[in-house]
Order: sequence, then C-alpha cells, then structure tokens
Amino acid sequence: MKKAFYLETFGCQMNVVDSEQIVDLLHQIGYAQVPSAELADLVLLNTCSVRDKAERKVYGHLGRFKPIKDLRPELIIAVGGCVAQQEGERMLDKVPYLDLVFGTHNIHRLPELVQQVEERRRRGVETDFLDRETRLNLFPERTQRDSVTRFVTVMQGCDNFCSYCIVPHVRGREISRPSADIIAEVRHLVAHGAREVTLLGQNVNSYGIRDHGELSFAQLLEQVNAIDGLQRLRFATSHPKDLTDELISCFGRLDKLCKHIHLPMQSGSDRILRLMNRGYSAGDYLGKVEQLKKNCPEILFTTDIIVGFPGETEDDFQATLDLVEQVGYADAYTFLYSPRIETAAARMPDDQPPHQKQQRFDRLLELQRRISADIWKKDAEQVLPVLVEGVSKQGQGQLFGRTDWNRIVNFNGTAELIGSIVPVRIVKVFRNSHLGELAAPQ
Ligand code: SF4
Repeated sequence: MKKAFYLETFGCQMNVVDSEQIVDLLHQIGYAQVPSAELADLVLLNTCSVRDKAERKVYGHLGRFKPIKDLRPELIIAVGGCVAQQEGERMLDKVPYLDLVFGTHNIHRLPELVQQVEERRRRGVETDFLDRETRLNLFPERTQRDSVTRFVTVMQGCDNFCSYCIVPHVRGREISRPSADIIAEVRHLVAHGAREVTLLGQNVNSYGIRDHGELSFAQLLEQVNAIDGLQRLRFATSHPKDLTDELISCFGRLDKLCKHIHLPMQSGSDRILRLMNRGYSAGDYLGKVEQLKKNCPEILFTTDIIVGFPGETEDDFQATLDLVEQVGYADAYTFLYSPRIETAAARMPDDQPPHQKQQRFDRLLELQRRISADIWKKDAEQVLPVLVEGVSKQGQGQLFGRTDWNRIVNFNGTAELIGSIVPVRIVKVFRNSHLGELAAPQ
C-alpha cells in the first residue's frame, strides 16, 4: 500500500514552486498526497519567515499535529522552508515530536532524509547552504501538471540586504539559472498545456547581472515572449533599483508581457528608504513609474509598503501616502513593521507606540481601498480578455480566470474553455475580484 503525505505551504510563489518539487520527490519514494493530516503517514509544513511572528505561528501550527502523533507515534512530522532554515536545531529542541527540519537549500535531499527517519535512524536537521555550482545543478526537472499558469524560477536568493528583510539570511546569495535551461523549461511547460508563465525570483530583475555573457533580464523576456503557444508572460518580484530602461521598454513592446508590474515601494520617504537600504529615492521610484506609464499607458501597478519602520515620523508617513496617491496603485500589500532576527533594522531604536503604527496602517489601508475601488470600477461593463484557469471555488458551473492586469474574474462557462482566452463582460466589481459573463467575440 502507498504511503501518504499531507503538505501545507505558506508564503510566496517561490514556496509554491518548492512545494511542487517536494511533491515530485515524495512521489518518487512511493508517497501519495492526501488532503488531511489525519490520513497521512508524513506531514510537512513548507514555511515562510517574512511575515510578523512567523516562527511563533509555525510552532503554534505544529501543535495541531501533536494529538495525531500521540495516537500514531509512527507519524513523521517535517518542517521545511524559511522558518526551518532560520530555526534549525532549535526547532527539534522546542518540539519534541518533530522528526525532521530541512532548509531552503536541502529540498533535493528530502527522499533520503525521510527514509532515514522512517528507519528511525535519526531525527534530522539539514540546513547547510550549498555553493553556487551545486545549487545551479539542483534545479529540478519540471513535471507535467494540469495547470494553465505556471511559475518558472529564474534566479534564487538575494544580495540586497534590505535592512528589514530576512530573505538573504534564509535563502542565501543570488544565483541565476542559465537562460537556455529557462527557455527549455518554458517550452516544455507550454508543450504540456501551460498558457501563461510567471518568471520568478526574489529579485527577479537582477537576473544575470553577475554572470558575464548571460542574457539580461529584458533579453530573457524577449526570448520567452517568442515561444510559440505561450499566450501571457509575467514576472515577480522586481526591485525598483534594477528596473533598467531596457526592461521598461519591454512593456508595450512585447505582445505577451502583461500590462501589470508589482513594484515594491516600501516607503515614500527618502530618509526611511535610506534606513531600509533600498538603494533608490522616492523621486527615482516615481521617475520609473512615469517611464513605464509613458511606454505602456494601460499599465497597472501593485506594491508592498511597510508602515511603522523604526524612526518613521508623521512627515515620513505622509510622504508614503503622497506617493501612493501619485502612483495610483491597483492594489498594495501593506505590512506593519515587525523586527526579523538577524536583520539590521532589528537593532534600530524603535520608539513608536503600537497604537500610532496601527493608526497609520489604517489610514494607508483606507486610502488604498479608495484608490483600488476607483481603478477597478472602471472595468464595469467592459469586455475584457480573460485567460481561463480552471473551475471556480465560488459555485457550480463557474470558471475563473484573470485579466491582463491580474484581476480574478469568475463567470459561468464550461470546462472546455479552460486554457483559452475568452471575452468576458464585467457585470459586478467586488473588492478582490470581478464577476463577469461570457461575451460575444470582439
Ligand atoms: S530585495 Fe530586499 S526585500 Fe527583496 S528579498 Fe532582497 S533583501 Fe528582501
């Protein structure tokens, strides 16, 4: 009988891709995926440490599996991802019923580590970072999945050391994959049904800058754009300081590149941006936004913003609100600052009372909600091309897809539309999605 595993994934798209690799590796050693921990012989959490109190949440989450382990001591519990990388041995000390901790560079060793635990030879911790060459050789073969949209990792790690960010500490230094491998992978995915790919990296637009003779990120986009059968192309997440003129010129020029960019701003205050070690000013940022709008007037922006960074004054915060108004984001992921261990910002004095941070956060949210609503309501009654991704969770007979601007649209339709781009009239605009109806071809 096949053994069963249950997997939960937290955090960003990079973790989603890592989880695909975890699934493939576990299939290779005879495990089948099941939808609940109660049915599993192996439970895995693929964790993220970017958000507030991430470690505490993972420890809390692990507590849910203890009663199952009490009933079935042979159950294996494993934690991977960024919290595992950060905590390492500490996790085994704190959670006596935890069997395995594997870091961000050790996913490929999962079959061997699981088998060691199965044989009860050890409780395991593997969090060593690997050298560049080894990592480059470890990019997995992508297996076929029944999915219209796929993520393709083009680089990993980050060398920027933004003062608040734990990513360089838990994901290691930047490496870029050879462009030939990326193009081959996209071709393979398209041949197996993918219609949209998102090129991924922690700092995706620094792709290739450390590799002499490699394509620039803009050149990579051009080559992927030329792949027959691919219909849409996106990338995430880009750093404003590495947004070159060449890359900006891709918008409006490459026909498959969607008219949306996620461009983390973090703060509108030059003083705070310096403290964050972001490498650009608010003026630089706005200049790039203006250039993008000039090249591609329909482009929409989304962003990340941190509120309550150590030392943030009312003037600093006002500068953030001003920049939010000036850019006019379609959406923003807003975060209340919280210190991450090992980062430079965690050592900065922070004397703002929590209620003040919360008030600022609420003001920003209110402003952003107004701007988002103004932008999305313009879609009402428009007929928009929607790439149909699958059956909607909303109800029977409904499909879901996305517009060029990455907006989710639910509408009635039949499954044979999955994978094609269809015209959809937007009949209702909600805060996070649209409701539509199929329209006649334009
Ligand atoms: S660019 Fe900055 S925020 Fe983004 S992953 Fe690197 S260090 Fe973190």
